Amino acid sequence: MYINNIPEGVDTRAITRSALNKLSGKQILFNFAKRIGKKGNNISRPILVNLQQICDKFHVLGKAEGNGFDVTNYDFKIEDTLYEKMHSKFLKFVLNVNKHSSNTAVRGELGRFPISAKAWALSIKYWHNIVTKRSPNILLISAMSAEHHSASSWLQGREYVLKMTGFNDIWQNAHHISSNQLYMSLKRRLHDQYMQTWFDTISKHSIHMELKYMKCIYERSPYLSIIKSPNIRSVFTKLRINNSILKSSCRIKIESELICPARDKCATESTKHFLLECSRYATIRNVFHDKLKVLVKNYNYLSITDKRISILDLNVEKLTEKDDIHIQEFQNIVISFVKEIYSLRKSIIN
Ligand SMILES: [Zn+2]
Repeated sequence: MYINNIPEGVDTRAITRSALNKLSGKQILFNFAKRIGKKGNNISRPILVNLQQICDKFHVLGKAEGNGFDVTNYDFKIEDTLYEKMHSKFLKFVLNVNKHSSNTAVRGELGRFPISAKAWALSIKYWHNIVTKRSPNILLISAMSAEHHSASSWLQGREYVLKMTGFNDIWQNAHHISSNQLYMSLKRRLHDQYMQTWFDTISKHSIHMELKYMKCIYERSPYLSIIKSPNIRSVFTKLRINNSILKSSCRIKIESELICPARDKCATESTKHFLLECSRYATIRNVFHDKLKVLVKNYNYLSITDKRISILDLNVEKLTEKDDIHIQEFQNIVISFVKEIYSLRKSIIN
């Protein structure tokens, strides 16, 4: 729940406590209260409050009107919430990539889903427990019946989630399914819907070119657990999600500015060019190929795509010998090749 229009003060918790007291005429317990937004941007930033008792929330929301405060219900109806942003920020921190990298890409690399999927499924389970009277909490049930009479946006939001996921019939006949079953099915449906959107997005945008080739299953990418060094692991991630020092990662897409600094054939400095074509790294690449040919006998005959997948995904499918020693040797050769050319690239002034 947000409380707006309260002047900034030293102790947000004390201010919130007194505001809630003033609104409801009684002491309201809460878990946390914090200012949201950038300090100094706004003289009165909203306060995000998490109340301990959900019935208090309805009580406060009901009393808020005409009391000088503006209290709004926090909802996950819109995907672009603060929680979602916080989640993406955390995923980028885990992958050691910068804040401008794509949220879609980092979620896919770690096989994570938006927070809203779980939040929506939990909110539906909560709604289901109350309407099927499985909840023993009388206060909750009476709060819900008050909601029914007030054309509540929260209830409309639950109806929207059920419709969007194809569970419309549950809205009318909630008793046909148990809360747990509904929760599990709905969460799986939301995940399936997200994966479908994810693969669509990846295939449409050129920035996700590498991921399009690498990812056919939505799960944490295996290279993340293969590469032990965090720094080298993040080089692989940056190249895969197109957020590296290469020109193709430039946010401003002016064709002339994307040309490789080695200026060979005026090619765009893409991940593909960098790994497989650029003349600047030819010597290192030749040594790499010679070592690799021992393990992948037909390496020279592999398609460009297969070569990219072998390198950036540490994919061993094309390996002729598949015992542990050879797999490890292959991965070590690839990792040191990428490490070497990337550090050479870092030393080149654009
Ligand atoms: Zn080049």
